[in-house]
Amino acid sequence: MSKEYRSPHADDYSDNPIRKIGVLTSGGDAPGMNAALRAVVRTAIFYRREVVGIYQGYKGLIEKNFKNMVSGDVSNIIQLGGTILKSARCKEFHLREVREMAYNHLKEEGIDALVVIGGDGTFTGARIFAQEFGIPIVGVPGTIDNDLFGTDFTIGYDTALNTIIEAVDKIRDTATAHERLFFIEVMGRDAGFLALNGGIASGAEAVLIPETSTDITTLENYIKSGYRKSKNSSIVLVAEGEKAGGAFGIAKQVEENFPQYDVRVTVLGHIQRGGSPTAFDRILASRLGVASVEALLDDQQSVMVGISNDAVELTPFNKAIKYDKEVNTKLLDTIHILSS
Ligand code: ATP
Repeated sequence: MSKEYRSPHADDYSDNPIRKIGVLTSGGDAPGMNAALRAVVRTAIFYRREVVGIYQGYKGLIEKNFKNMVSGDVSNIIQLGGTILKSARCKEFHLREVREMAYNHLKEEGIDALVVIGGDGTFTGARIFAQEFGIPIVGVPGTIDNDLFGTDFTIGYDTALNTIIEAVDKIRDTATAHERLFFIEVMGRDAGFLALNGGIASGAEAVLIPETSTDITTLENYIKSGYRKSKNSSIVLVAEGEKAGGAFGIAKQVEENFPQYDVRVTVLGHIQRGGSPTAFDRILASRLGVASVEALLDDQQSVMVGISNDAVELTPFNKAIKYDKEVNTKLLDTIHILSS
């Protein structure tokens, strides 16, 4: 028997003492952060809470760069890349006295709780801040790297993946025209999700990721067998954190052994962070934004909201940051089989 649907009500959390919620975006920006922000603001307002936007991540907390948000402030942003609140990397927040100043600014403004949208660094800072000053904080995973434990996907990952395949498709056209071997570097300092799934989706001949050691002989064999089968171009995706020197390092080694190949390197760089979020990221961001405010009003703190198997899950910051979300290295077999 299916459970009867009950729609949320504005009074659902009326007993909770949190009255004013601050929200910020921090660390590397990711497409879909705006959609998450929109959801946080609208959900807080739905439950009759005030909501304050904090500009430039933790920097805005220190500089007291705040703005009271109304529903109209987040109109027309669901489709925008970047973040209208701006983001920043803020070294000063590592200092206790600076965090104390940030806390005083929250008190002065009457902000009772925070939603932080960002990656593992953002949650590390949030965990320390919450522990020191007892402020409830809930995190929303916004990073293109998909490297947080406790959610199947992070906001921005799907858009970045689509940007990668669009770029690789274009590079393949020119690679084929000139019979070239291309090493394409994609983002992922510590995690190979973008390279691995980008490689499958773009039909790459091989993928090199930080989680596995790069065996140059095996790579060369793939390339050789590809050419033997008269493939007239080859694409290898390299995660930036790959340990043998990234795309330039690998290309140099291969070039020395195969002078007959016309080797080229492309680093995709920051285009991977930009662009309008995909439908998947907009939906993920909207669901997580709603869930973050509901979690705070449900007395949750120092947790990240995530979605696993289509259900909202809460994971303590500590686990979300420290537990490794493992890449499925079986996907390397998929690439190997399909490029044979
Ligand atoms: P991405 O994964 O996209 O790079 P991120 O959230 O991991 O995003 P970081 O630059 O690592 O990005 O972290 C964001 C901010 O979090 C830092 O600029 C800093 O202000 C704060 N932060 C990170 N680590 C700490 C820490 N140990 N103590 C206090 N604050 C921290």
